[in-house]
Amino acid sequence: MHVLILGGTTEARRLAELLAAPPAAALPGLRVTNSLAGRVTAPRLPPGDVRVGGFGGAEGLAAWLREHTVDALIDATHPFAKKISFNAAHAAATAHVPLLALRRPGWVPVAGDDWHETHSLEGAAKLLPALGRRVFLTSGRMGLAAFAGLDELWFLMRSVDAPEPPHPARMEVLLDRGPFTLDGERQLLRRHAIDVVVTKDSGGAATAPKLTAAREAGLPVVVVRRPPVPEAVRVVAEPEQALDWIRDVQGSGLFPESG
Ligand code: NAP
Repeated sequence: MHVLILGGTTEARRLAELLAAPPAAALPGLRVTNSLAGRVTAPRLPPGDVRVGGFGGAEGLAAWLREHTVDALIDATHPFAKKISFNAAHAAATAHVPLLALRRPGWVPVAGDDWHETHSLEGAAKLLPALGRRVFLTSGRMGLAAFAGLDELWFLMRSVDAPEPPHPARMEVLLDRGPFTLDGERQLLRRHAIDVVVTKDSGGAATAPKLTAAREAGLPVVVVRRPPVPEAVRVVAEPEQALDWIRDVQGSGLFPESG
């Protein structure tokens, strides 16, 4: 059985690790290919085969599925990677390959949070001047152009790789990748005298401590809500559930058993 995982997330890596470890590794004839977009210079590589780079749209992905006789497709990409998720839905339908989305749930505010929700980075940029002057920007290095005109604000921008222009004029870059600790986030907010935080609703535990630290410090947080997901695709939140789904596909006879 050949499983293709569209990855680039903690969950995708955790699933690949699960599939490589017993007893999942004992699934008959299981072969796993992990696909990465190639955005990060030195990605953390999951176990199993790894391919890097785009497929050439939904048609390219469908052709890849057929050519490499993929039996099950798992879209474990980031909740904000909208294009590849729609491509996966389209390609799975045309190539008749079962598809599962592995997607971590979004964050929900709790008592004491001061969240300001929007649906785009541009929307976040519009909200900022009324909320603070020293911004902790954690929405990633892509899309920084949305904040480029905000010359009166200062930004601390944290990302895995260095950003490219256009970006805000007054900006310090912090190269780092999660998981982050609550204590580390508290210190960071204090050290840089941050008075507002910007985040995408990425969900998950690895980058959530900034939300707790902001709540404790009474800071407003601009939360960019998720883009829509393809309809009619089954979604699970945990890698273990994806493993169960793979077992179901294997048991369903939807692919030729290699024995
Ligand atoms: P996107 O806008 O949905 O995808 C743009 C194009 O990149 C896709 O059309 C596809 O090219 C290629 N691509 C995306 N993910 C791929 C994958 N796993 N394997 C092969 N090709 C892929 O995605 P994005 O927002 O640029 O994100 C790119 C990757 O970074 C994703 O894999 C995602 O999991 C990861 N990531 C994204 C974010 C975020 O905030 N967006 C955060 C953390 C990690 P073709 O059309 O040529 O196939």
